[in-house]
Amino acid sequence: MPELPEVETICNSLKSNVRGSIIKDVGVKTKKLRYKIQTRYIKEILNNRIQSIIRRGKYILFFLSGNFVLLFHMGMSGSFSISDLCSQRKKHDHILFTLENLKRKKKVLAFNDPRKFGCFIIVRKEKISCHRLLHHLGLEPLDDQFNGEALFNILKDTHSLVKSTLMNQNKIVGIGNIYACEALFDAGISPQRDAANISIHEAKKLTASIKKILTKAIKSGGSSLVNYKNVDGKMGYFQSKFSVYKREGEDCKICSKKDTKNSKIIRLKILGRSTYFCPTCQL
Ligand SMILES: [Zn+2]
Repeated sequence: MPELPEVETICNSLKSNVRGSIIKDVGVKTKKLRYKIQTRYIKEILNNRIQSIIRRGKYILFFLSGNFVLLFHMGMSGSFSISDLCSQRKKHDHILFTLENLKRKKKVLAFNDPRKFGCFIIVRKEKISCHRLLHHLGLEPLDDQFNGEALFNILKDTHSLVKSTLMNQNKIVGIGNIYACEALFDAGISPQRDAANISIHEAKKLTASIKKILTKAIKSGGSSLVNYKNVDGKMGYFQSKFSVYKREGEDCKICSKKDTKNSKIIRLKILGRSTYFCPTCQL
């Protein structure tokens, strides 16, 4: 499943490729993705301009010139692609937007999703901030409001492990399994620690690690997940740069250079998710 850096990368690609375009046609080739497609609103979004594109958590929102917002989620296997009008449609291209850009050139933006866990919802602008999929979302980790004190306050009132709390979308959005593992390693904090026992000093360190890891991932174009593709259809690769994720049994990049005894990355399950960490560097 794409995490924040992948969605941010997709969002940035969409901004440079389709922002400002006018929706001339919408082809809906499936009745349902994660949710039923509301075809009754389709005619209301025709001839609307895509004014702005933003990311909120792992959702992508197209604000249109009319009264609506298009809300997308990539699910497990969603991707966008842009092609010429005459190009052949690909299998699992479920939603096809014919767009006309500022130079009056037409392109097709396709939302493709083999596993159909993604979503495409048309929401009235006045209802977007209280929409059931968005209203509960927690802090954006790359926003200035997300700082050491904010994370400390989130953690101290939580009765679960620090790693599960980082992945709780009601508290902080967009950090999934990969970047939770990587950020905890970077901060030297064991994923098995109780959230409430993290000190303010550690919370500050962890905040800096989260921002650093996510920013680095965005710069390198997202992660390596098999299904992840950016808008141009290119795969993003970042996996070779992971410090702990999927590195069970391999040498820790820090302590193995110091002749410590337990310098191999280990894996255990936390809330059903494979968690990778170094028992020597992460306390
Ligand atoms: Zn280590």
